[in-house]
Amino acid sequence: MNEKKREKILIIEDEADLVKGLELNLADEGYEVGWAADGREGLRRALEEAPDLIILDIMLPGMNGLEVCRELRQKKANIPVIMLTAKSEEVDKVVGLEIGADDYITKPFSVRELLARIKAHLRREKMEPRTVPRTFAFGDVEVDFVHFKVKRAGREFDLTSLEVDILKYLVAHKGEVVSREALLDKVWGYDKFPTTRTIDNHILKLRKKIEEDPSRPRHIFSIYGEGYRFMD
Ligand code: CA
Repeated sequence: MNEKKREKILIIEDEADLVKGLELNLADEGYEVGWAADGREGLRRALEEAPDLIILDIMLPGMNGLEVCRELRQKKANIPVIMLTAKSEEVDKVVGLEIGADDYITKPFSVRELLARIKAHLRREKMEPRTVPRTFAFGDVEVDFVHFKVKRAGREFDLTSLEVDILKYLVAHKGEVVSREALLDKVWGYDKFPTTRTIDNHILKLRKKIEEDPSRPRHIFSIYGEGYRFMD
């Protein structure tokens, strides 16, 4: 049950020197690494090999990284994508996030920083339970996890990505008491250290969106000294 499958990372980048260094570091961390030096080839391999995470450069021969990301998302692949951008590509990183990249890192970057991001995304992906649907309705609330929206009583609210992650986790553990530590670990990841008060603040904001009366919650309950429990 707990046997450890090596996670596979596909690097799509044409700068061989950069890739060589990265490959070594990632292999050291126990990842299986694939490399495509061309956008089109990268897209093909991403779709065929379904890696656990993709590191995607923007400037690529064949097909640029933005196009690769866009096609990847259209063809469903729900794989975390970290884009590499040069300083001069500030605009592109915004576009990158819009077309579905999960993160970006600006060159030159520290390998440690990239590793931390990779771990955070893989962890997030793992905790993202397959059982959570793209939309979820309870009471008079409709949550759209894909577009980060909540509708309640005819009103629509935007959700932040943290709120989405918190809600997904709570929903996936419906009826269970979820500790603040679990939320810290699963939602924020190991490299961030928010206080438990930060979590409580996010829960308060979430309640304002999904609860009819946030002071008397009917969906996200506080369990004194323990954490939270979601009920639909
Ligand atoms: Ca490049």
